[in-house]
Formats: sequence, C-alpha cells, structure tokens
Amino acid sequence: MSDDIVTVTSPLLPNLDEFQVMLKQIWDSKWITNNGSFHKQLEKELAEYLKVPYVSLFTNGTLPLITALQALHVTGEVITTPYSFVATTHALWWNGIKPVFVDIDLATGNIDPDKIEAAITPRTTAIMPVHVYGKPCDTKRIKDIADKYGLKVIYDAAHAFGVEVNGESVLTAGDMSTLSFHATKVYNTIEGGAMVMHDEQTKKRIDYLKNFGFAGETEVIAPGINSKMDEVRAAYGILNLRQVDGAIEARHQVAIQYRNALRNVKGITFFDDMPGVRHNYSYFPIFVNEEEYGMTRDELYFKMKDEKVLGRRYFYPLISEFSTYKGLDSARRDNLPNAHKMADSVICLPMHHALSEEVVNRILDLIVK
Ligand SMILES: *Cc1c(COP(=O)(O)O)cnc(C)c1O
Repeated sequence: MSDDIVTVTSPLLPNLDEFQVMLKQIWDSKWITNNGSFHKQLEKELAEYLKVPYVSLFTNGTLPLITALQALHVTGEVITTPYSFVATTHALWWNGIKPVFVDIDLATGNIDPDKIEAAITPRTTAIMPVHVYGKPCDTKRIKDIADKYGLKVIYDAAHAFGVEVNGESVLTAGDMSTLSFHATKVYNTIEGGAMVMHDEQTKKRIDYLKNFGFAGETEVIAPGINSKMDEVRAAYGILNLRQVDGAIEARHQVAIQYRNALRNVKGITFFDDMPGVRHNYSYFPIFVNEEEYGMTRDELYFKMKDEKVLGRRYFYPLISEFSTYKGLDSARRDNLPNAHKMADSVICLPMHHALSEEVVNRILDLIVK
C-alpha cells in the first residue's frame, strides 16, 4: 500500500450504472451531438450552479479562449500573465495577437494590477488574466483599468470552477470568462469546457461561432469553428455536477491537513484561504525557500518522486520561457521577477477528492523534517 504511486490528481468519475442509464437514453434517441437535450440540460444546470446568467458548452477549455477573442474582435496586443498553463498564451497566438507579459503579485500568483498600465500601448485592445489556482484576481482594479483605456477583459477561469467572492461568482467578471472541464480539473467532462457571458445575444453569437458560424440551415454569420460538446460528455457532466460539492469539500479537508502540518515548517510557504472567498481547492501549491528549508525545490520534488509521490511543478517553466514566446520584449527575465521567483520555487502537492488522511500523511512525512 505505502508503495502505491500517488498522482497529483485523480478524475472525479460518475457512477457507472447511472451513466449507463443515460447512455441508453442517448442511444434510443439517436441524437448524439448538436445541442441535444443533455447539452441543453447541462448548460442550464451549470448556469444555476455557477450563479451566472449564461453558459455555452465547448469541447475543451482552449477553444472558448480562442472563440472569445474572435467574438470580441480582439487584435493587436493583449496583456496577459506568464504564470499559467500554455493554452492561455497559445489562444492569443492562434488569433495572430501579440502577447504582452506582465509580472505577477506574489501574494496570489495572479497578474499584478499595479503593473498593467505601464504595459498598455496604442495597440493594446484587451487584458487576459488568469485566476491562478482558482484564487480570484483583483477583478475590480482590472475593470477600472480596462474601462479607463477602453479595453476588453477575458478571464481564463480554467481553475475557478465554483469560486465565489462574497457570495458572487468570480465568473461574472470581465466581458467573458472561460472554463476547462478537462479530466485533471475540479469538475470534469473528460475533455470539455465552457464560456460564461452576460447577455442572451452574446450567448447566441457564441453558440453560432462554436458551430461553424451557422445561424440557420443556410446562413453563416462568421467564420466559426467546431467546438460543440456531444451528448455523451454532457450526460457525464450532468452526473458529475451532482457530486462536485462533495469533491470540493473532500479537497478542502486535504488542504486543512496539509496546512496544519506545514504551517511551522521553516522554508515552506503556501496560500491560506482569502476572506470572503469560496475556494475550490483545485491545487495545493507550496513554495520552497532553498536557504531556509535546506533543500532546493527540485531536490524536494525528485525526493518525492523517488518515493512515488508525484507533485507537479505548476507553473514551471513560465510560458514566457517557451521558444515561441521567449523572443518577445516582455518575456525578458528582468520584466518578470516575481513570476520567475514563484515558478522556481513551486511544487503542487497531490490534491483530489479521493486522497485519504493516511496518504496525505505519507506525503507530509516526505516534506516535514
Ligand atoms: C487546463 C487549462 C486550460 C486548457 O483547458 P483544456 O480543457 O485542457 O483545453 C487553459 N488555461 C488554463 C489556466 C488551464 O489550466
């Protein structure tokens, strides 16, 4: 038992018998994709659960980012963060937009609002922040800056499923927010994603764009893409939505156990809950201070790996370090000191709904000295 591999995450899976009942319904109906009844039901249930006005389902979390930029006619330069998963910046690249990296705030890992204005040029048209690890960005400050300069705001909210600030969904910030329902996320539909928008007209436009731009049998309103979720995954999503609160609570208990044990370990820091925020405990990043801890981040990471405990160095390397983006002026190391500091010290510990107290203790024994 103690030799079993501990993975960083484990997918939340629906009950197979219940899933089979729904599969039978799909088979009987022979309606397997193109806005079927489970697709409609999941959009409605997600909007209610997430406390947002409109949701449009997608095949993954990358295509809604690409589609949001298309729908808002974003061009030129977009201000974004290097401390994220590569898909954030790739979405800009796929739209022929130049990413402009701005450094992060070490208190949250999110883009530092104080540094956004200095990066704005006459070519800037939007800001694309990320709620890293599901920790909400300073959405008010970002809105004030965007309003002052007439910029659009698209949030990559891939980590922020169910996150609320003072009882309100963080997904209502900005012009649009996007979600990923990939297997590794808090809520999954195997592969999947969604876009959240404010009004019915935008929802309609997005629904056209994710279906090649078709607005009717013979009318195409714009060069759309195909990123529709099918009925099988929508059914899977309906079942998983019923158990996601339980999964988030189980993750919360893991976070409590980690924090209690790590609070007094010299050289290891982590994030506490933010006041007024309903967190989703999607990740549990720790930060290793080499001098104080007496070991480098990589030494600890590989020591854990040797003991079959698989953490992940999210987000290392920074997006700005990948060959495609490295040549950009804003990718210079001296422009992004905080992002480098975080990327060089982070390990995301195993975090999912099915981690037992015993396994968490096994992980902690490798870190607490
Ligand atoms: C997972 C993720 C994505 C991409 O989502 P997919 O569903 O894998 O396409 C985008 N941005 C961030 C921050 C992510 O973590």
